[in-house]
Amino acid sequence: MTGLRLPEADERVLARREEIVADLRAIVPGEGVIATERGMRPYESDALTAYRQLPLVVVLPSTTEQVAAILKYCHANEIRVVPRGSGTSLSGGSLPLQDAVLLGMGKFNRILDVDYANRCAVVQPGVTNLGITRAVEQDGFYYAPDPSSQIACSIGGNVGENSGGVHCLKYGLTTNNVLGVELVLITGEIVRLGGKHLDAGGLDLLSVVIGSEGLLGVVTEVTVRLLKKPDTARALLVGFPTSEDAGDCVARIIGQGIIPAGIEMMDRDAIAAAEAFVNVGYPLDVEALLIVELDGPEAECAHLLGEVEAIARDCRAVTLRVSQSEEERLGFWAGRKAAFPAVGRLSPDYLCMDGTIPRKELPLVLSRMRELSQKYGLRVANVFHAGDGNLHPLILYDANKEGELDAAEAFGADILRLCVEVGGVLTGEHGVGIEKRDLMPEMFNEVDLAQQLRVKCAFDDKGLLNPGKVFPTLHRCAELGRMHVSGGVLPFPDLPRF
Ligand SMILES: Cc1cc2nc3c(=O)[nH]c(=O)nc-3n(C[C@H](O)[C@H](O)[C@H](O)COP(=O)(O)OP(=O)(O)OC[C@H]3O[C@@H](n4cnc5c(N)ncnc54)[C@H](O)[C@@H]3O)c2cc1C
Repeated sequence: MTGLRLPEADERVLARREEIVADLRAIVPGEGVIATERGMRPYESDALTAYRQLPLVVVLPSTTEQVAAILKYCHANEIRVVPRGSGTSLSGGSLPLQDAVLLGMGKFNRILDVDYANRCAVVQPGVTNLGITRAVEQDGFYYAPDPSSQIACSIGGNVGENSGGVHCLKYGLTTNNVLGVELVLITGEIVRLGGKHLDAGGLDLLSVVIGSEGLLGVVTEVTVRLLKKPDTARALLVGFPTSEDAGDCVARIIGQGIIPAGIEMMDRDAIAAAEAFVNVGYPLDVEALLIVELDGPEAECAHLLGEVEAIARDCRAVTLRVSQSEEERLGFWAGRKAAFPAVGRLSPDYLCMDGTIPRKELPLVLSRMRELSQKYGLRVANVFHAGDGNLHPLILYDANKEGELDAAEAFGADILRLCVEVGGVLTGEHGVGIEKRDLMPEMFNEVDLAQQLRVKCAFDDKGLLNPGKVFPTLHRCAELGRMHVSGGVLPFPDLPRF
């Protein structure tokens, strides 16, 4: 491991490994416990592949009762636990720890109930995001949030990261599309938050859990909202001579009161990489490309297409195509959805950043990013959820070249600082994980962070769930309870900071 520090391994747990493995086998018999180095290797990292670590042991439960028994056992024996869905997190959220049980939720792969009358489905957390849409599309329904990783990522992971996708501008993120969860606490107790109904009494703990990155409990069931597929969906592919013109176009579309189903933007490097990957006819002589999708009744779509086209021409668009068939519309999206793997061809390694800015700051941020690219001597290809102001700069580097990973991480940190400086936030949809953990104080003051930690303590008093992620400092909950921040200075300055 390089760079970021993780909590020190608990030597007492490491020393008891054989006994712990045997105890876990008693809870999950058969092939549900993987303890060999070879068997655990596939779990050593998530999609933040610069960081790898073998876990203490991998456990693959298949029932809620097994999850509850594992967590109760770990709580009683002070053993850390890292929940994992499909392991596609880009922020290191499911990175194992040497002394922690890696709790893989892949066997929770069933759709339990499809309820069109209540417009929802109840699914297990290991079901893939796309698997939900596949299960209902023959009846004209779908699940709206669509991360580019949707073929692989699990709905449990989407809940963990509050994931988004190209259609979240109009339809919202995971938090707007999940109605309820079943959650197993670290004590082994099982709670249900929300359900098929729209609102519940009491504190809105469902919102606290969505986006909590495996730090508060293990999700064993998810109730998702289903939407009726729109009658029509059509997309425009619009090329611009500068990124500023494209940014201006996005601001004017939204400013005019139009909320497209999605507005995505790619810069020259990303366009070239995507086109080489999928060959769908992206223009190669433009600096920025927008994909704007409109959906709804046919007449509304046709009207809005005309409005968007007029705005785009006014913003100096140099190429403009409107999809004439479903096949062509999907072709427009194919390049964007494959942009990350496509950029992988430009360079041996890349870091995918994820910050959000107010839309109007896009030109400024792009020009500052170009300066940073020169400063660090590293190329950056840009893919944005432009409508949401959510940036995904892909920093290209070669891990085999001395110092390039460090430079890429420093470059990425500067981009995220820039996002906060212009009034944005550290993450749009990929979560904090280990990747942005040490940047949290750029965005939150000590009081903010202490209050968030108190929420963590209310769920996980011993700090056993996914430690080392999200929060830049370690505090025992008892100490946190006595903690008073005075003059912006935290007490216990000698506590381990990792
Ligand atoms: C090529 C590529 C494209 C991507 N595109 C997008 C995109 O467009 N939008 C987007 O938002 N993300 C995107 N991602 C990031 C990633 O796919 C999402 O964050 C996804 O939600 C992770 O799901 P997962 O099942 O892989 O979860 P994991 O990586 O396994 O885990 C993610 C987090 O959730 C926690 N977790 C997982 N399951 C549970 C559970 N059952 N209970 C409690 N906690 C749990 C983990 O502890 C971890 O903190 C992309 C990733 C890749 C590799």
